[in-house]
Amino acid sequence: MTPTARPQGDGAGRDRTVPWFPDATVLGYPRIGPNRELKKAVEAFWAGRSELDDLLAALEALRRETRGRLARLGLPPGDGSIPGDFSAYDHVLDAATTLGAVPARFADLVGEDGMLDLPGYFALARGDGQRAPLELTKWFDSNYHYLVPEIGPDTPLRYGDDRLLFKFLEAAADGVTTRPVMVGPVTFLLLSKPAAGAPAGFHPLDRLDDAVAAYADLLRALGVAGAPWLQLDEPALVSDAWDVPRDRVLAATERAYAALADGLGRPERPALFVSAGYGPLGDALPVLARSAVEAVGLDLVRGALPPAAELATLAPKVVVAGVVDGRNVWRTDLDAALGLLERLRAGIGEGARVAVATSTSLLHVPHDAAREKHLSRELRGWLAFADQKVEEVLILADALARGREAVAEPFAEAAEARRARLAHPGVRTGVRERLAALDDTAFTRAPYPERRAAQQARLGLPTLPTTTIGSFPQTPEIRRARAAVRRGTLSEAEYRQAMRAEIERVVRLQERLGLDVLVHGEPERNDMVQYFAELLDGFAATEHGWVQSYGSRCTRPAILWGDVARRGPMTVEWTGHAASLTDRPVKGMLTGPVTILAWSFVRDDQPLGETALQVALALRDEIADLEAAGIGIVQVDEPALRELLPLRTAERADYLDWSVRAFRLATSGAPAHTQVHTHLCYSEFGAILGAIDRLDADVTSVEAARSRMEVLADIRRAGFGRQIGPGVYDIHSPRVPSVDELTELLEAAVAAVPPRQLWVNPDCGLKTRRYEEVTAALEHLVAAAHAVRATL
Ligand code: GLN
Ligand code: ZN
Repeated sequence: MTPTARPQGDGAGRDRTVPWFPDATVLGYPRIGPNRELKKAVEAFWAGRSELDDLLAALEALRRETRGRLARLGLPPGDGSIPGDFSAYDHVLDAATTLGAVPARFADLVGEDGMLDLPGYFALARGDGQRAPLELTKWFDSNYHYLVPEIGPDTPLRYGDDRLLFKFLEAAADGVTTRPVMVGPVTFLLLSKPAAGAPAGFHPLDRLDDAVAAYADLLRALGVAGAPWLQLDEPALVSDAWDVPRDRVLAATERAYAALADGLGRPERPALFVSAGYGPLGDALPVLARSAVEAVGLDLVRGALPPAAELATLAPKVVVAGVVDGRNVWRTDLDAALGLLERLRAGIGEGARVAVATSTSLLHVPHDAAREKHLSRELRGWLAFADQKVEEVLILADALARGREAVAEPFAEAAEARRARLAHPGVRTGVRERLAALDDTAFTRAPYPERRAAQQARLGLPTLPTTTIGSFPQTPEIRRARAAVRRGTLSEAEYRQAMRAEIERVVRLQERLGLDVLVHGEPERNDMVQYFAELLDGFAATEHGWVQSYGSRCTRPAILWGDVARRGPMTVEWTGHAASLTDRPVKGMLTGPVTILAWSFVRDDQPLGETALQVALALRDEIADLEAAGIGIVQVDEPALRELLPLRTAERADYLDWSVRAFRLATSGAPAHTQVHTHLCYSEFGAILGAIDRLDADVTSVEAARSRMEVLADIRRAGFGRQIGPGVYDIHSPRVPSVDELTELLEAAVAAVPPRQLWVNPDCGLKTRRYEEVTAALEHLVAAAHAVRATL
């Protein structure tokens, strides 16, 4: 099928024929598969249970099924409506490998053809015994994690890997013209970190021209293959919080797109659609408007309609309006969205060409709400997952073209669902009065010195106390037991018995290893958020609602639809059981309010800060119950504190205020002699160190191993006064660190932070690891702690 072409502009001697841009599209679609086919295929391969050919066939089948599903939902297969955004692990890693940007330590994996094979690609993602993988970090303010490319002055940046082209041709052979999707050059470089050994002052953005040259080669290759459109994602443009000045980001954008859009003519290259998502483009919009890119995407869910004067400058381009939320699961307010689209079209004025889209890739939402049969019909009727969102963009495009009356029925249905949702009694309950009655004392603990003394007296811990972050391996037996309860072949009582036995094993193991502060191991938790969501009013759990967290890892976020309240103790039975088995202190384990929100789909009918306080109140009651059960240490995990940090600096203070307030409401009921820990899953603190301090936790554990303790410099600079556990064992990789390696990291820690403030721990929970790895690594960790303790 040949897309309809239409001439555009005067072309200044160039062929400016722009291919037809579809009226409706999605910026990306979940890659994991409705039944987590991706996970199953790659994990079988990693475990040696399948051959490379099996994996390649499974990935191809998944891509084909996805294209087929999108076509069945109504996206035309012939015009580039269907995004070609599949990734076997991560789209940033895909961009890095497409550009040949393989770190020097992996250079030997690059074949003579300049390409990495799939096992080589996975080696960058996961490490391979001796070599550390690329660092894993949050993708903007989402719960997706990407692999951080490492770019130095000499890192190769050469188009050579034709993965993207291959996928386009594969689809074309099936009769589907996809729209390939890749991270754009500015975002790619801003997401990268300087390679080891790069000179001081070097920034990956210094390599802009080289990167752009590589993109240009990619564009030519796609042009030859006949790709009508290429989507270049530039979400980095919506953030003003990079380590380079905004001017430089804008100048890089201008330069990159001058080279790619003006520098190459059509049809030598595909038409370019630059999308951002995750917020408004702000002052990057005029830059893109001035460029010759053929389409620009606007996130109209997170960002308002740009001013009229700016809209008018977009006229010759296709404006791809992201009006369907790619980040949340609620059915779109179709009337509001259509109104926005009409205002956008009017604002652009003569020649406006508006396409309807999602605000971001649908990567962040599950596949299909229709499968959630166990939810009440009412709740299900409020939801739109990826497939429903595809339908919504199509309905909106239809309404924009033919008028609302022509598609009245879906509009009426959506309005009715919305009305029912707002009127539901569960969305406004008595918890509001309890919150309104709180005063400042509910947010304040005793002064730290007093707490420190009381805790030391109660716990009597050595210098450099050793502990873990909470979870121990979720073994196949544990998962099987949980599945059996769901199937009804194991009784609830038998399940609880099995979990108690598991807790006992974990306690004994920790005693044998010589850890100072024990945990119960969290065997009963399917997931650190879902577990609580299932026990709290106001949340609903999905059955099939998996979303990709990183690589093959998925989570099943709960849906927070109403006011939150605790029905009864949630963790006391398990933590209490562990404590009853040992004389050593046992640390209770809770998930913090921000993390519960960040990893759930949240209400869109009230500010997040309000919802956070409701969750905090429930946790506060839980801590009181743990306290009453004699638990002397409670950890409130907030790994997501940074994840939700607004991408625009102006919005940050407000966010940090409400998140700190929520944490403090949750924890400030704890008496002085109860030690409050928190755990944060990242190592870049710059922007939130002050907020972490204001959490007022007695002990904060953070991720540090992957970045080789870079975090210590920040901590020292900030003069952080309470205790800190910089994670020394990178649990994201199967590699077992040696005693020497751990000792070295601890020595670095001791050199940077007074030893009396230091804890020794892995950098996150152990649930994804195997016992072999964990036992050896913790043995080494304890040995290293003892070795360093002996030198103090
Ligand atoms: N306590 C949790 C665990 O150990 C913390 C996990 C996390 O930080 N993501 O699994
Ligand atoms: Zn963590």
